Amino acid sequence: MDLIPASAVPRIPVLGRAGVVQGEFPVHRIYCVGRNFAEHAREMGAAAPASKAERGSPTFFMKPADAIVVDGNVPYPPATSQLHHEVELVVALGRNAPIGGVAVSDAQALVFGYGVGLDLTRRDLQSAAKAKSLPWDTAKGFDHSAPLGPLLPRTEAGDLDSAALWLEVNGQRRQQSTLDRMIWRVPEILHELSKLYALRAGDLVFMGTPAGVGPLLVGDRFHAHVDGLHALEGCVAPALG
Ligand code: MN
Repeated sequence: MDLIPASAVPRIPVLGRAGVVQGEFPVHRIYCVGRNFAEHAREMGAAAPASKAERGSPTFFMKPADAIVVDGNVPYPPATSQLHHEVELVVALGRNAPIGGVAVSDAQALVFGYGVGLDLTRRDLQSAAKAKSLPWDTAKGFDHSAPLGPLLPRTEAGDLDSAALWLEVNGQRRQQSTLDRMIWRVPEILHELSKLYALRAGDLVFMGTPAGVGPLLVGDRFHAHVDGLHALEGCVAPALG
């Protein structure tokens, strides 16, 4: 018997290519990849690997599952004056990884579908944490920090290998790249994550952002795009309370 009300599982709508609703995707965990585009690593003051052999291990962090926003309406978060956008490809897993992890060559079979999301960041808190070599949790894992568009099933998504990724704020292009510029590709990231965590159906992976991150203000409208996927559109609302 539950002694308090159980929280609802966050859910994301799943739409076919033609926009017909197929159902919902219940979210288990949200993993995020840091520094997955060289130009963004540099703009954040970090070194970018010169070659694949020098890339070391990917940087991971997490957000709570209920940080998901599906209606595009993001209230300005508390405790920051520097809310930043990071447009990212989001991978949704439809199968559990095997015990012991998934091989790179088998990882694509875990993917249920794809979406476009924003890894919203309290950049001032992240800068302060970095300066003290402290964790990024309060900068990354806050309420409403993961707006996400509808998912498109993998079976209906075309080849995303060199798809364009971009973000417009109030009609102006802020970020733009292509997915082939990611330092770590989707199967490689799933392989690496599966060595650290038991990946499960319902997990989401935010794949990292290209250069051009910048501020979002109350009233700003955002439009995030990956070629072939459903767009994310929304706006920043006044702070709650
Ligand atoms: Mn990010």
